[in-house]
This record gives sequence, structure tokens and C-alpha cells, in this order.
Amino acid sequence: MPRDPRFDILFNPIRIGPVTAPNRFYQAPHCNGMGRMFPDSMIAMRGMKAEGGWGIVATEQCDFHPTGDVQPFTETRLWGDMDVPYLAGMVNAVHKHGSLAAIELVHNGHDTGNMYSREVPIGPMHRPVSWHNHPVQARAMDLSDIRAFRRWHRNAALRARQAGFDIVVVYAGHDGTMPSHFLSRHHNQRADEYGGCLENRMRLYRELLEDTLEAVGDTMGVVARFAVDEMMGPDGLEWENEGRDAIEMLAEMPDMWDVNVSDWPNDSKTSRFAPEGYQEDYIAFVKQVTSKPVAAVGRYTSPDTMVSAIRRGLVDIICAARPSIADPFLPNKIKEGRADDIRECIGCNICAAWNNLSAPIRCTQNPTMGEEWRKGWHPENIAPKASDAHVLIVGAGPAGLEAAHALGKRGYRVTLAEAGAQAGGRVSRESALPNLNAWARVRDYRLGQIAPMANVDLYLNSSLSAEQVLEFGADHVVLATGAAWRRDGVGRHIRTPVPGAEFPHALSPDDIMDGKLPQTGPVVVFDDDHYYMGSMMADLLAGEGYQVTLATPETCVSSWTEHTLEQGHIEKRLVDLGVEILPRHSVMSQGEGAVELVNLVTGERFNRQGFLLPVTMRLPNDSLYFALKDEPARLKAAGTKSMCRIGDCYGPATIAAAIYAGHRYARELDTCVDPDGVPFKTIRYDLELGA
Ligand code: ADP
Ligand code: SF4
Repeated sequence: MPRDPRFDILFNPIRIGPVTAPNRFYQAPHCNGMGRMFPDSMIAMRGMKAEGGWGIVATEQCDFHPTGDVQPFTETRLWGDMDVPYLAGMVNAVHKHGSLAAIELVHNGHDTGNMYSREVPIGPMHRPVSWHNHPVQARAMDLSDIRAFRRWHRNAALRARQAGFDIVVVYAGHDGTMPSHFLSRHHNQRADEYGGCLENRMRLYRELLEDTLEAVGDTMGVVARFAVDEMMGPDGLEWENEGRDAIEMLAEMPDMWDVNVSDWPNDSKTSRFAPEGYQEDYIAFVKQVTSKPVAAVGRYTSPDTMVSAIRRGLVDIICAARPSIADPFLPNKIKEGRADDIRECIGCNICAAWNNLSAPIRCTQNPTMGEEWRKGWHPENIAPKASDAHVLIVGAGPAGLEAAHALGKRGYRVTLAEAGAQAGGRVSRESALPNLNAWARVRDYRLGQIAPMANVDLYLNSSLSAEQVLEFGADHVVLATGAAWRRDGVGRHIRTPVPGAEFPHALSPDDIMDGKLPQTGPVVVFDDDHYYMGSMMADLLAGEGYQVTLATPETCVSSWTEHTLEQGHIEKRLVDLGVEILPRHSVMSQGEGAVELVNLVTGERFNRQGFLLPVTMRLPNDSLYFALKDEPARLKAAGTKSMCRIGDCYGPATIAAAIYAGHRYARELDTCVDPDGVPFKTIRYDLELGA
């Protein structure tokens, strides 16, 4: 299909100093938990972005000296010549598709604990390192340290050129790099020429840009990645004053500006806390003060919004990390007139979480993310069917929908039966929670893809029994029947049911999502899940006017959401809604209209008026599976060759895990999988073996 001409502007080449990007799609530097540890995976993932049409593909942050060692995070590294070859591998993978390769050089200053290198951390001032309150301090750099620092950065730029990169990003952002530490009044109270007035605090950044331009600027584009607002009020840079002054000072120096806000939780806000394009108000001034190209992120997934951002004079280049993770082929889909096929990011930050956990990246929407090399999964291509099998899938939640989608793409005949009046399972229910509407994209993308497939039939209002499954007689039966929240408080902390929690009025998150609100309040949410659901229950009920207490055995509310960069935002929202938060508390019992709580530190027990809403764990809806498993002879007689469970019905987990399970089932059907082997390629290490 021809491209809609209104999107042409996105495909105009643009010069960035001595190099030219083929279009306006810039895959921003993004961490991926693979980097130097799993280089083949990282290289294949970056190459896939270029294949999908991203005109510039960047590394994640690449630390360039042992004093800025990011262990335990698995980013890229360029400490010396020995690191050039694997980075050159990434460059080649990107160049193969005609895109430019960019490298983001970083030194995380006083944020790193130097766990691997054991070097003493450095920064503008003496201060404890920020990483996990690690019990060591960064020492204040003197002028000779600053000279050495500039040399390390320059050497890294030269090595980046040796690796073949086209663009080098000089990085002062996210409140997490040496130049941003020097820039911030909050971090820098030096009395020399590198502290005090803005010009002095900008000195190191200016010098890094000058050094880089002098060293490689004749052949490489030099990009300034810069946070114009630290989102900490007058304690930090604000875009209206010093943020603007800073850009004005260096306006024409770099070949391109890539601007955002810091720190990372503010830059990469989830959809629960910020809409598409949410940084526009902060960065809008930049194009007015420079003639150089400007790029900015904003979780842009809609081509119309992208075009609008360019036409309104906000940016020249669309910068995107998460949208490129959810759909590496986003640019090509727009180019080929297939914008409706874009797999839109839902803004959940599961991708960031896996990086923060030092694990290879995964994505809720894109099950192939991180599997490009080790499983050979391509986000758009899948092997054709290997038989004429007919597959019956029971349950159209994320697992069932993705299995149907991927099997349908392979060409199998698929029947998808869903008990409810709507497809989507937990995604449909959870996307109706406050501010989670973008999550419905998980369902809508798959329904949109399945709709034109003549070989896939979806039946709603079709709750199947074991008898009906047997009667149907499919070649393969897949149970994707989901899971249900427990009502009795059992979970990580409490191992036996809470006395009284089985009252007829005891509720679960499923009840609340089904609209069964408590007849009277108050409500005590007991959150032993620690991801989003506890806070969502509190959010929804407080919004409905209930008085809400949230008790958790953890030291803070929604503790796991530290990894999705949401914890601070969630805590603020609940406080703003008037929710009483009780950290380090557990539940003893549910009585008549009162919940008995215990302070886990002091042992003090006390009552809170109201009803208990435990958010602790889910149990699989696997009765259909076991009913069928008990009938091997009848399954055989029905011609059913295999029967299995996937997704939450097998092991309750994230939506990302359910999508992955559905996709994996489809990929592996009619293939030989060694049950005793490792189900993916692993890397070989070159060992010295004691030599
Ligand atoms: P997952 O995350 O694993 O996809 P969900 O809980 O989101 O699981 O979805 C499971 C879906 O299965 C729900 O929409 C539910 O209505 C449906 N379901 C459960 N049991 C049956 C059944 N016996 N027949 C048809 N659909 C079912
Ligand atoms: Fe978007 Fe979530 Fe995928 Fe990250 S994990 S790219 S936020 S859909």
C-alpha cells in the first residue's frame, strides 16, 4: 500500500554535521540488560531496529572508564581497544540496513559504586555514591582529574570512530552523568572555575563537546543529549531559566540537540502517569534558540503525533526508545502504508524493569524483543505452518490472543473460544483501572491483526467444558484460561488463610474489577504483591470515595515498581488521594467490620475499621486442564495429539509473560524441542583456562 503523503516529512533525510540520517526516526539510546554481557543478543536487537527502518540506531549508555563502572548493570563498555570489536559488530549490523550507528558515551560519576573495577568513584564533590546507598564515597575531582577525565572521553570518541560509529552522543542527562552532576547546583558547590555560576558549571560539558568535535567532528556527528529541566524546582535546572540559558550558551556547538527532562523516572514516565508527548512543554523552546536539528522523546507511537511535533516546530527528529522496542518495524510500517499494523508501546516499563534487574530486556507488546539472536525470532516474520493441524485455544486473554495471532500468521487453522463477552482477559479488566487505558493496546493490536485472518475464528460468550473440548476434537488444545486473585490473604508473607477472610463480603481485586464494590467502607488493602495491583485498588477505591488504608509488609508501597521507575509517582498519587499507607504491617484477622493489623517492627496489634481487600497472589484457573488430563483415552479418541496450558493458567505472572507464552507456543508447534536442553543459544566465552 502506498504511504500516506501526510507522513512524507518523516522520511526526509537530515544532516547531522558530516553525516546524513536517511529519515527522522532516531532509536534513542536505551538500556537492554544485554550490552557487553550478551553482545550477540545486543547486536541482533540493534540490527533489527535498523532493518525496521530506524534511521539512527544508538547504543545504550556506554561507560568509557573503570572509574565509571556500571556493574551490576549490563550496558555496553568501551574501556580500551579490546572493546572495539563487539561494538564494531553492532555498527555492521546497523550499517547493513543503511542506518547510522550512534554511541552514547557515559561516565556515571558519583552514581557508580565501581563494584567490578574497585576504583574509587569520582564526582564534582566529596559525597556518598547514590547507587543503592552503597557505603562508599565519591571523591571530589581536582583539576588534574578533570584533565584526565577529558582525555578518557576523547580517547573513547576516537575508539568509537575506530569501531565505525557515525555519531557520538555527549551525554548530560538523567541526573546520572558526570557533566550533569557538574551542571547541577544540587550536586556541585565547587569554589573553582568548575563550580558556582552556570557558565562554570557548564564548563566541563562545553569542554567535552569541544574535545569531541576536535577529535572526531570531521567525520562523526556530535550530538548533545541534554536534560533541560531536572524537575526538582529551584534546586535544579528549570527549563524556563537555567535550562534555557544552558542551551543558549552552546546553541550552535553540537551537530544536533537531543533534549529531555531528568531524572530517568521523569524522562521515561509510564502511561499511568503521563500521556504521549508529555515532554513537549519542557523542550518546546529549544528549536527557537538553535539552528541545529533537535530531537526529543515522548513515547510517540502515533505517526500523526510525530508529524504534528515536527510541523509545530518542536522537533526535527522523532526520538524513541520504548516505541522502538514495542515495534522495531514502526518506521517501515508507516513507510509502507501499514500504520494500522504498528504494535504500540503501552508505556508499562517492563522493558526498563528488566534492565534495572540486570536481566536481558523483554517487552510486554513485543515477545521477540531480546530473542532475535538466541532464539532467532524476528518481530515480523515467522515460519509457515508445518502441518494442517487445527488448534483450539480456550481463553482469549493475552496468552490466548497472542497464540492465536502467531499461529494464524503461520497459517494454522485456529479456533479461539472465550467465555466472556469481550476478548482480552485480564488486559480488558486492568485497562479499565484508573489511567491504564493504554494497556488495552495489547488486546486491540492482536484483535486487529486476527480480524482479517480467514483461518482464525474467535467465539465470544463460549465457556467450554471438558466435554465440549473433547467433542470439538482439535488436533491440539491450548488452555489459556488465566488465573484468579486469592481472597484469603495467603501470599509471600502470610502462609495460611487470614482468619475471617472468607466472610461472604471478603473481596479480591477480581471482584473490584468486576464492579463489585464494598457496600460500605472503609477498606484495608493488604498489598503483599508489591507490583501495581495493590496501589491500583487503593487508587480506584479512594477515587470512588472510600476511606482507604494500604498496609504492606514492605518498607514502601509498591516496592517492585522501583524497577518500572514508578514507585515515587505511585506513592505521591496515593498520598494525594488521601490513602493511609502503613509500611511494615501485616494482617492478623478480619472481624465484624474491622481488620486486625500488626506492626511488624514493634509487634503492636490494632484494629482498623472496614473490610479487607487482600492483594497477595493468584491461583491458576486450571480445572479444565486437569479434567482433560484425566481423560487421555478420550483425548486420543478425539484425535487430539497434544493438550497443554499456557500463560497465567500455567504460572501466573505479568502480562508480558502471558504474551511471551502464547508466542512461544505458536513458534514451537510442530518443531522438535529437547525437553532436557537449553531452549535458546548461549554465548561461548573465550577463556584463558589458567594459561
Ligand atoms: P492470560 O493472562 O494467561 O492470557 P487471562 O486471565 O487474561 O489469562 O485470560 C484468560 C481468559 O480465559 C479469560 O478471558 C477467561 O474469560 C477465559 N476463560 C477461562 N475459562 C474459560 C473456559 N472454560 N472457556 C472459555 N474461556 C475461558
Ligand atoms: Fe512499551 Fe511496555 Fe514494551 Fe517497554 S515493555 S516498550 S513500556 S510495551
